[in-house]
Amino acid sequence: MMEKKKLVLTFPHDLLDKPITYHLIKDYDLIVNILKAKITPKEEGVLVLEVSGKKTSVAQGIAYLKNIGIAVEPLIKDIKWDKDKCTHCTACVSVCPTDAFTVIRETMQVVFDRDKCIACGLCVSLCPYHAMEIIL
Ligand code: SF4
Ligand code: SF4
Repeated sequence: MMEKKKLVLTFPHDLLDKPITYHLIKDYDLIVNILKAKITPKEEGVLVLEVSGKKTSVAQGIAYLKNIGIAVEPLIKDIKWDKDKCTHCTACVSVCPTDAFTVIRETMQVVFDRDKCIACGLCVSLCPYHAMEIIL
């Protein structure tokens, strides 16, 4: 049975050079489409991939990624910022790999730019006021 999955990979700096997409294609016979790639300010890599192939191969490919120390999460469809719940605490700002949050210096208000968001989900569990919502 064939399967297609969109995945968010987060990996440490020392794995940035590893040819992971090559391994997924060659060793697991998967079709890999890179949707986004980004290095965070903390020098972590975030890669959003669409992976398709045999169901067992997709599972094996994911197991391979996890085994070498990569965090693998399914891609969330979209993220919603609830402006009314946001207290502008700025906790989310440094974690976002695509700089989707900006702090307006004059007012110390946080602004969310939806167009920059890749829906990686990193800010969701981090926001203490549940202002970032997952839309599945
Ligand atoms: S962590 Fe939550 S409350 Fe704090 S600035 Fe970000 S969205 Fe707003
Ligand atoms: S989900 Fe949150 S951390 Fe991820 S890109 Fe969007 S705003 Fe940034």
